[in-house]
Amino acid sequence: MDLEKYLKIIGDSYFGYFHYLVNEMFYPSWTNYFWWLLGMSIAVWLLEIFLPWRKDQAIFRKDFWLDGFYMFFNYFLFSLIAYNAISNVAVEAFNDFLALFGIENMVAIHIEAWPRWGQFLLLFLLADFIQWNVHVMLHRVPALWEFHKVHHSVEQMGFAAHLRFHWMETIIYKSVQYIPLAMIGFGLEDFFIVHIFATTIGHLNHANLRITYGPLKYILNNPIMHLWHHVKALPEDRKYGVNYGITLSVWDYLFGTDYIPHEGRDEPLGFDGVEDFPKTFWQQVSYPFLKVKKNENGKEGFPKAPFEQQMKINETDTL
Ligand SMILES: [Zn+2]
Ligand SMILES: [Zn+2]
Repeated sequence: MDLEKYLKIIGDSYFGYFHYLVNEMFYPSWTNYFWWLLGMSIAVWLLEIFLPWRKDQAIFRKDFWLDGFYMFFNYFLFSLIAYNAISNVAVEAFNDFLALFGIENMVAIHIEAWPRWGQFLLLFLLADFIQWNVHVMLHRVPALWEFHKVHHSVEQMGFAAHLRFHWMETIIYKSVQYIPLAMIGFGLEDFFIVHIFATTIGHLNHANLRITYGPLKYILNNPIMHLWHHVKALPEDRKYGVNYGITLSVWDYLFGTDYIPHEGRDEPLGFDGVEDFPKTFWQQVSYPFLKVKKNENGKEGFPKAPFEQQMKINETDTL
């Protein structure tokens, strides 16, 4: 392995991203993520202030500043600290690995000749469907759920809750999306408008607003639908979760995971034991790694999946 090449990639990643971020912050333009995120956040916040759904919710709601920090961290800082370097190295290593088998190019489906809107649409649908599946896994796999709990520790919904999530989720989502998207030769970030649209819908999903977009609710995720994703008391037969949609709600309607029994404006949010969940950024991001549970043998580890516990019972039965 060419160590020097990889060290150079790491160096360039830090240098490049630092310059990108400084540039984004100090030179506003129409295709600038930093200022778009800020402007759009303020716009959704103003809607919350003037047209609130829960009228007694404070303008600076519970965890407003914590979520504001998460927003900046997950959108920009994490890339600077680690993600950019890790992903550039991983992509290079993956390409080197493919080269061992004589594969030079991963692009398998050629859509460059498609009209631009067709490329948009395919990429958007594909990325959103993959995300929906990953989100389902975050709820169903116990070790992944420990990371996803950070997002579900939101007890009062507001636009900034959108980007309260553990940085590990970025790694999980991007890793799963990498191969399918590389096969068509580009990613979501390549389309500024698609990325900003998805971020806006995500902000609105968490906002203190009573919006469903009328008949479009069967296609687009919305604040009422996503509020039910965050409720504490899930129905007995849906204990893993409901309404997994990210930008689109259509997957939930197609796969029967939709659930909106009523508007649910004041439903308690979170999960069992959310009161005891860590409250600060550093505690929350280190929590899943430290989370240990003493099982019957006194060993430490992640809580077992229900079927593993079942197997354990059967083993003792036969002994
Ligand atoms: Zn979730
Ligand atoms: Zn959410």
